[in-house]
Order: sequence, then structure tokens, then C-alpha cells
Amino acid sequence: MTAELRGGGDLVVCDGASRTFGSGESAVVALQGATCRVRRSARIALTGPSGSGKSTLLHLMAGLDRPTAGTISWPGLPASVDHPGTVGVVFQGPSLMPPLNALENIAYPLLLSGMADGEARRAAAQAMEQIGIAELAGSLPDEMSGGQAQRVAVARALAASPALVLADEPTGQLDHEAGAVVMDALVRATDLLDAGLVVATHDPNVAARLDESWQIGDGRLRLLPLEAGAR
Ligand code: ADP
Ligand code: MG
Repeated sequence: MTAELRGGGDLVVCDGASRTFGSGESAVVALQGATCRVRRSARIALTGPSGSGKSTLLHLMAGLDRPTAGTISWPGLPASVDHPGTVGVVFQGPSLMPPLNALENIAYPLLLSGMADGEARRAAAQAMEQIGIAELAGSLPDEMSGGQAQRVAVARALAASPALVLADEPTGQLDHEAGAVVMDALVRATDLLDAGLVVATHDPNVAARLDESWQIGDGRLRLLPLEAGAR
């Protein structure tokens, strides 16, 4: 970790970021003038009803989409946002590859990023250990519960030690108990990496696990004061 990051450099900064889909009469303003920053070690819940712009903002912060107005920058990331493994992303469904076992699913993106096979397997095994799912290493996706599969997806997102972790309704398809286990795994693994974490959710139980709350409604982001969002 660099001195700058230890000093709390912003991992991502959104400055008046907007995203409009389509044009003319059919244009949809999904996000309007979002200004926010995520620091190292931040634990942020991004809450808002369905269609409010949560995924749009997360995709912009992940570098998967570009704003149509305003800017997004990543001053504190150790490598370019496009560099594999710099940002870890967890989606609502685990989308594991059916023919690969858990360990292979986690190692696969590492191999794609150029890591040698042995090293990728070691990193995958370590991520599974940290998340408490080492016993699933040889299991195929079909053999896992939804919660187990989602913890594999968390390990996959974290195996490359990203500085920034973005999760889009990671417990949205799970019951309360399984969701709590997945959130435990996500928060614990993010803590170990000292990464920044943003979790989009409309589940108050999930939001309660985090330190800060951002609310979004109709594409407009509202940052609550720390006291209000604190546990
Ligand atoms: P949330 O994740 O909070 O449910 P989204 O960010 O997915 O909300 O969507 C915000 C708004 O933008 C919604 O009105 C949605 O229909 C619209 N939207 C999202 N993605 C697209 C797209 N690719 N094309 C057109 N409209 C979109
Ligand atoms: Mg969404």
C-alpha cells in the first residue's frame, strides 16, 4: 500500500456525474449530477427504490460505463480502473460457470489477467479461506446453495485484492439468513484488504451493516451526514 493510500486518498470521485440513456423524447435520466467520493476503508450503503439509479452509479464507479455529463476519476486506485482486479464487482446473482468448480471459478479471472496457473490457484484458495468457504473448493455451482454460490462470487471479486469493491444488491436473491452470511463474508474480506466498499441495496438489514448511507431517488444522490448513517 502506498503512503498516499494510507493517508486516505479517494479511490473514486464523482463530480456532477450524470447518465442519460437514449435521446429526445425517449431519453431517461438515470443519474443526475452525482457528487461523491469513496475513501479507502469506507463502508457505504447505496440505498433507494428500484429504478432510482443505484446500478447506474455503481457501473460508472466501476468504469463499466461512462457519464454523459460530469466526470468520474480514480485518483487513489493503485492501477487504472480498466486493469483487471483493480475493482472487485459483485452482482445480484453469482453467475458462476457451471462446468468449473468453486476454486476454478475464482481462479479463472486471475488466469485471464495473466497470472500463472499455480499462483492463481493459490490466490483462489486463499480467498476461499478468508471468506470461510474453503470446504467448497471442489463443489460445482449446481451443488451449492444460493448463499454458497454468492460467497464464491464474493471470493472471485476479492481474490485479486482490489482496492475498491462494488456490490450491486449482493443479497437480493437470498433469504435473510443467507444474506447475512454473505454480507459477513463481504465486509470481513473487504476489511482484510482495507479496500473501499459500496453496496447497493434496498434491504435495511444490509445497510445497517455498513458505516455510511447514501440515498438515491429518481437519479438524485443524497449523502446523509455520517452520524445519521452510522451504526
Ligand atoms: P436501480 O439499480 O436503482 O434499480 P438503475 O440504475 O438500474 O436503477 O436504473 C435507473 C433508471 O435508468 C431506470 O429508470 C432504468 O429503467 C433506467 N435505465 C437503466 N439502464 C438503462 C438502459 N441501459 N437503457 C435505458 N434505460 C436504462
Ligand atoms: Mg439495480
